[in-house]
Amino acid sequence: MSDRYDVVVIGAGIVGLATARALTTRLPGAALAVIEKEPAVAGHQTGHNSGVLHTGIYYTPGSLRAKLCVQGHRAMTEFCQEAGLPFLGGGKVVVATSEAQIPGLEELQKRGTLNGVRGLRRIDVGELRELEPHATGLAALAVPEAASVDFAAVARHIAAHLPGDLRTGAPLEAVEIGERVRLHAGDVTCESRLVVNCAGLHSDRVARLAGATPEVRIVPFRGEYYRLSEQAAPLCRSLIYPVPDPAFPFLGVHFTRRVDGTVEVGPNAVLALGREHYRDGRPNLADVAEMLRFGGFWRLVARHWRAGSAELWRSRIRRVYARSAGALVPEVTGADLRPGGAGVRAQAVGADGRLVDDFHIQESPGFIHVLNAPSPAATASLAIGEHIADRAVRRFRRWACAG
Ligand SMILES: Cc1cc2nc3c(=O)[nH]c(=O)nc-3n(C[C@H](O)[C@H](O)[C@H](O)COP(=O)(O)OP(=O)(O)OC[C@H]3O[C@@H](n4cnc5c(N)ncnc54)[C@H](O)[C@@H]3O)c2cc1C
Repeated sequence: MSDRYDVVVIGAGIVGLATARALTTRLPGAALAVIEKEPAVAGHQTGHNSGVLHTGIYYTPGSLRAKLCVQGHRAMTEFCQEAGLPFLGGGKVVVATSEAQIPGLEELQKRGTLNGVRGLRRIDVGELRELEPHATGLAALAVPEAASVDFAAVARHIAAHLPGDLRTGAPLEAVEIGERVRLHAGDVTCESRLVVNCAGLHSDRVARLAGATPEVRIVPFRGEYYRLSEQAAPLCRSLIYPVPDPAFPFLGVHFTRRVDGTVEVGPNAVLALGREHYRDGRPNLADVAEMLRFGGFWRLVARHWRAGSAELWRSRIRRVYARSAGALVPEVTGADLRPGGAGVRAQAVGADGRLVDDFHIQESPGFIHVLNAPSPAATASLAIGEHIADRAVRRFRRWACAG
């Protein structure tokens, strides 16, 4: 006999867990489960990121990303403070290092203001020196509400207080759609009225298992970090960012003071040879073959091969990586960089080869699929959870009316 639920969430990353949390308050009394393939929560993107609580300066005004980032930033700040989870305020500076970057800086200020980011202000070199004495540039933007948190700790906290079943070590492998959805996940077989797909790097595959035709495909981009040596760590007080290249959704190599006091440099963004390819070494041939069969991948390569090659070069040569870091903080040299961790981003790509900019959520019978939740989805997770819960509540109401 299989277990019966009202809602099942696939994926115990921060988006899946925040969604489960929102659903338990919006659908009180509903039977809920979270199904996770790994033995513990937060094993992928949620546990391998920069830990920055973004404020919302980068995203197109009116987009879901902008709206949910701003809401999620406030919700996450309160959540960490109430739960006593690590939170390191201090704000960030975005630094223009050439005249050519000044319009980009102005655009960020404009977007941030339109998105309702509080306390944003343009600062001159003197004030930059006061905030970050070792950073150099021509002009900067101060973003006082940016902070560092530990998203994996947030995920573990939500999981520990979830009034539902958390079934780990259960990879979803098959789906049968009938009046209810029947799920086969390792040793777990269960049925549910509604399933929310928050499978991150595998979300498009889960959508296909559910019989949906996702409009986008996940292409994995690895982000590699260095850590500043103990002697060099005081060169960064809080968060120092470059002006990002508007052609990409990635923010450029930056300095991040983490909640444990260490300073990370990175991440870069290189194409990963597998959806969970955290380290160099044998590629995942099945993942690579699937990527090569996707026309959107070739169109992506045609668009961005030059930038992609430069990223690869920077990934291979520490001196080149150090040069990017040194553009912001000139005292940093290759000798200060210690190898750090890596994360793999689940970046959705359209059939036309475009990197999908906004969060992307698609519905199919019995399912809601989160198909693009890259940065700042960890920041925005509590707001994404509420957004999905709204959609779920509408589905249940429609069913109640029809039945
Ligand atoms: C290098 C890097 C830096 C980043 N920096 C930041 C930052 O500073 N600030 C920020 O806000 N965001 C940042 N992000 C983005 C952020 O980490 C992600 O947007 C967020 O963690 C997405 O959460 P998720 O729950 O959707 O995905 P995940 O955390 O990847 O969770 C998905 C879960 O689904 C599970 N799963 C997959 N397939 C199955 C299956 N078939 N059956 C069962 N379970 C399955 C996986 O095991 C996983 O646990 C960064 C990301 C990366 C990679």
